[in-house]
Parts: sequence; C-alpha cells; structure tokens
Amino acid sequence: MRDDTASRSPSPEAIRIEGLHKSFGPLEVLKGVDLVAHEGDVVAIIGGSGSGKSTMLRCINFLETPSSGRIVIGGEEVRMRPDGSPADRRQIERLRQSLGMVFQQFNLWTHKTILENLIEVPVYVLGTPKDQAVARAERLLARVGLAEKAGAYPAFLSGGQQQRAAIARALCMEPRAMLFDEPTSALDPELVGEVLGVIRDLAAEGRTMILVTHEMKFAREVSSHVIYLHNGRIEEEGPPDRVFGDPKSDRLKQFLKTVA
Ligand code: ADP
Ligand code: MG
Repeated sequence: MRDDTASRSPSPEAIRIEGLHKSFGPLEVLKGVDLVAHEGDVVAIIGGSGSGKSTMLRCINFLETPSSGRIVIGGEEVRMRPDGSPADRRQIERLRQSLGMVFQQFNLWTHKTILENLIEVPVYVLGTPKDQAVARAERLLARVGLAEKAGAYPAFLSGGQQQRAAIARALCMEPRAMLFDEPTSALDPELVGEVLGVIRDLAAEGRTMILVTHEMKFAREVSSHVIYLHNGRIEEEGPPDRVFGDPKSDRLKQFLKTVA
C-alpha cells in the first residue's frame, strides 16, 4: 500500500537563512532576508542589478561575512560572533565544501587541464585517493558532455564548455546543494542553452539548488520557489507560476516587463 504520510511529509531542510543583514561600510545591502530550501528544492533569486542577489548567495557560504542573521546548512547552525563573523573557521570550511558554487566567470585554473581542475581539491585538500577522484571526475565530465576534453586546458574550450566544466568541478565535491550566480550571463547567446541544459538535468534529478538568474523563462521552468529581491529586501516570493503569472507588487510587475 502506498504510504501517503511519507509522501506528504516535507523533505529535510538543506539551507535556512533568517534575518540576514549585510552592510558594506555605510551601505546596507541586505536588510533582513529569509530563505528556506528543503532537499530537492530549486530556489530562483531574481531582481534588478544591485538588489543584493550575489551578496545573498555569497553570504550563504561565507564568501561574504554577514553583518547579522542566522544561517543553517543541513540542520547545522553556523556559529557566528555578534558581528556576524565566523566563530569557527573550520566549520565554515567544512560547510562551504558542502555547497557547490558556480560563478558567472567560470574561475577555472588556467594552467591546469580540465581533469586537473576537477581533482585538485578532492585529492590535495580532502585526501580522496587519486584514482577514485579521477574516476568520479571522468564520470561527471561525461555527464556534462565533456568526456573528450579531460586533457585540454581551459583556454581551448568555449565559454559554454568552460562553464559546464565548472559545474562538473563543483559536483566533484559531492555537494549537498549547488549555488549558481548568473551562470550564463557571461556567455555568448548561442552557448547559453547548453549550460541551462546541464542545470535543468540537475534539477530533474532532485538536486537542491539556489539559482540567481536573469533567464526568467528558465527560472519559471526549473524552480520550485522564486524570490524577488528589491533593494536588499524580499519584495515578493512564491511558486514560479504565481510569481511570474500573477505578480502582486508593482515593482515586480515593472521588473518583469523590463526583462521580458
Ligand atoms: P546583484 O548581484 O543583485 O547585482 P550585489 O549583491 O552584487 O547585487 O550588490 C548589491 C550592492 O552591494 C551593490 O550596490 C554593490 O555595489 C554593493 N557591493 C557588493 N559587493 C560589495 C563590496 N565587496 N564592497 C562594497 N560594496 C559592494
Ligand atoms: Mg550579482
């Protein structure tokens, strides 16, 4: 018999942030934002340039130090000092490794081959046996359609191929969740589709993701929840069909017109 109780109970929380504030000097960039992603959720963050999207994503893995707020990764609360700085560097390192980050600029090491890029941290930082790391890297390269590029240097790859390699590199860490910061906005238009295709596959297999994107059609298609940031605050949020199909706030309506 089907267990309806189990299928209705929500999956565990992967990422929770509460009351997140971030200032750069006198400039308050995040004014108290909240987010909860359960395992398997795809949360899309949209909003105009300068609204705080990257800062929000970067605070989640402490690439930026929050000014205040709570961050909980996989049920584990990040220990912060009252000024938001990490109380335990090793905890930050460990939690950061559980979040695969993909940037707008692919950030591959240019003097290493694609395979070397993928195995560097697993082997030399985490101590994964090399043959095991290589096998995993080759499997992930095949998954993003780059099996034949393992020995190539990044400069010999197109932007779309480099970004797919960067995604495979993040996956090599076997992350609990993936964080994408406008992964296609540095790409020529004809290369956007191949990268979105890889992200779509990850969503379909139930990966937890937080995705900052300007690709509204894509956000609507893959996300389970959409957050619209304006000026450091969540102006509106909800399921994608509601947020895109029936926006309530005038600012969001206006924003959707400008990006359409
Ligand atoms: P978005 O990703 O939505 O375009 P960001 O999070 O990058 O926005 O930036 C939000 C605001 O914070 C902008 O005004 C930006 O200039 C400012 N900002 C971002 N990073 C820094 C920094 N390291 N130092 C000072 N100001 C910053
Ligand atoms: Mg940004």
